[in-house]
Amino acid sequence: MIQDTNDNASNDQQLNPATHPSNSLDWLSRLIAFDTVSRHSNLALIHDVRAYCEQLGLTVDLTFNEAKTKANLFVTVPAGENADQINNGLVLSGHTDVVPVDGQDWTSEPFTATIRGDKLYGRGACDMKGFIACALTILPQAVQLSNSGQLRRPLHLALSFDEEVGCLGAPLILADLKARGITPDYCIVGEPTNMAMVVAHKGIAVYRCRVHGKSAHSSLIGQGVNAISYASKLVGYVDTLAEELSTRDDNDALFTVPYSTLSVGTIHGGTATNIVPNLCEFTFDYRNLPHMTQDDILAPIQAKVAELNAQMQARAPETGIELMQEESVPAMTDNNSAELQSLIAALTGDDERHKVAYATEGGQFTNAGIPTIICGPGSIEQAHKADEYVELIEIKRCDGFLQKLLDSCTAK
Ligand SMILES: [Zn+2]
Repeated sequence: MIQDTNDNASNDQQLNPATHPSNSLDWLSRLIAFDTVSRHSNLALIHDVRAYCEQLGLTVDLTFNEAKTKANLFVTVPAGENADQINNGLVLSGHTDVVPVDGQDWTSEPFTATIRGDKLYGRGACDMKGFIACALTILPQAVQLSNSGQLRRPLHLALSFDEEVGCLGAPLILADLKARGITPDYCIVGEPTNMAMVVAHKGIAVYRCRVHGKSAHSSLIGQGVNAISYASKLVGYVDTLAEELSTRDDNDALFTVPYSTLSVGTIHGGTATNIVPNLCEFTFDYRNLPHMTQDDILAPIQAKVAELNAQMQARAPETGIELMQEESVPAMTDNNSAELQSLIAALTGDDERHKVAYATEGGQFTNAGIPTIICGPGSIEQAHKADEYVELIEIKRCDGFLQKLLDSCTAK
């Protein structure tokens, strides 16, 4: 950690690499120093955390990407009379990867935690190494309670890779848990919510649509099939569906935008004004309310694609429309989390429920039947930006929250 103060004496807080930190701020500084931008390996961080867990006597489970360059880490502090109970339990979940800093104008080095005033700056400070730091800090106490037989509910820590590029890591953790017959009772995803309780989020599906027409001189349009014209018919249809979504009577007022949305984001096509274009490509995204599925909206779009394909191919058989899904993250539902919500409300003294439009791994956990909420330090407003920071008070609040949560795991 670098302290930006006038007092040089406070600048020599070098961490000893042989030992692990014992408080959340030192842990956060240590985690930020690992450049875990999604396109890089996260193995150095994972092996550091693994060494820490193994020193605590815990058994660590790693699951890897195909190239073995990235890993998820799952570790359990067991509970029960004989301290061998690893089923059920509470999962603390966080992603280890961070978004790039390319092209961003940072005041201090992004991969060196720097405290200025009441904030700690660094890539991942709020999204979401802050929560992971707090979770790692409380682990030794959980182990102590486990060893003395006082831990009644197992505590799990799940650290994933590649969340920022489409939540690619968490499904491997969930598949591994299923294979091992472990069914956690609850999960808390520590994305930045200013420690408020987020009980649901929308899903996101991103589509790319490639319209293949047929070129001709614009004076001879009868010989061509205009890719831009057909793309625009489909764009118009997507907009019509978007309007219909906004007026449905099953919308949810807890979301800032209370309905599912469809939005065209990019379009490219054509080479010259006097040429009938043979290619046009556009992308759109669909953000569905948790009670709606992504198929709800895909089915009518696919029907429209089939209709336009038939029209195009009647004129030139080699033409047509390709529709590809590029990304899909399921919505997080609050259907099965009432008990967890009550527990969190009781611990925090705040029973306000929030719903958000950004997607997390929470949807994958609820899809796997694990009741989940999102609650973590820092604000989503600071995520992904230059000079990303977390307020020190937020880390303190998260420490307090996890302490209460751990206490609840020891209650009879
Ligand atoms: Zn995040």
